[in-house]
Amino acid sequence: MTISLVKLLLGFPIGLLFAGVMTHLVHVRSLKLPLAAQVPICPSCGKYQGLISKIPVLGYVLYGRKCSHCNHKLSWKEPVSEILTILFTMWAFSSMESLVALQLSMLFFALLGITIVDFSKWRIPNLFVMIILLVAVVGIASGIVSLDHSLKGIGVALVTSILLVIPQKLVNPELDYAWGDVKLCFAVALWLGWILSIYVFFLASLGAVLVWVFSGLKAGYSANRPLQFGPFVALSTMIFGIGRVLHPQFITDLLTFRF
Ligand SMILES: [Zn+2]
Repeated sequence: MTISLVKLLLGFPIGLLFAGVMTHLVHVRSLKLPLAAQVPICPSCGKYQGLISKIPVLGYVLYGRKCSHCNHKLSWKEPVSEILTILFTMWAFSSMESLVALQLSMLFFALLGITIVDFSKWRIPNLFVMIILLVAVVGIASGIVSLDHSLKGIGVALVTSILLVIPQKLVNPELDYAWGDVKLCFAVALWLGWILSIYVFFLASLGAVLVWVFSGLKAGYSANRPLQFGPFVALSTMIFGIGRVLHPQFITDLLTFRF
């Protein structure tokens, strides 16, 4: 797989666009604002930051990393996530067929958006899940994803969802954290197919358990100390999703345990 400079540059404006769209969606969905709302707004004074701040990374740099009204220091997480989206999109377009690159880049920014919102708000916005669903439908229609595998993937998502919801309902019936995770599991399973889904949900659960155990060293162990599952699903989906796109024998290797 060779990297073409022309295609690398083609990926840049698309990456810039995706980074801008992602940040906008993260802002409106975190604050539960309408889609066309004026964001970003300063977390301290609540004022709109202006149009220039909407330019990914550059907006942050131009404003001197602080709110132009009250000098509140802005989070560095936003430009970092934008840089990641731009770099990922450029890499995808430089090394893959354009349609595949487009799908994988959209999946990337949706999963990153979910990770950001889930970490801060304990919520997985439906809008990002819908972007993943769209990628899955396009994947099936364009033959990248097998319909048969996708439908069986729904079965894997169903089993995973039951395992997610039941323990939570037993510990604390009032909480409804898991429903966002359930929707996310169904959407990624459709795109991943059943074999990758098994690996992804297993890796995500393992990661979540390990982080929960290690973070418990400081925070203490209680069944009421929850942990976001979405970011683990997002990371595992990217690992196995990229694997499938880059290496055609990937699924067969996983199925026959050839590593
Ligand atoms: Zn401010």
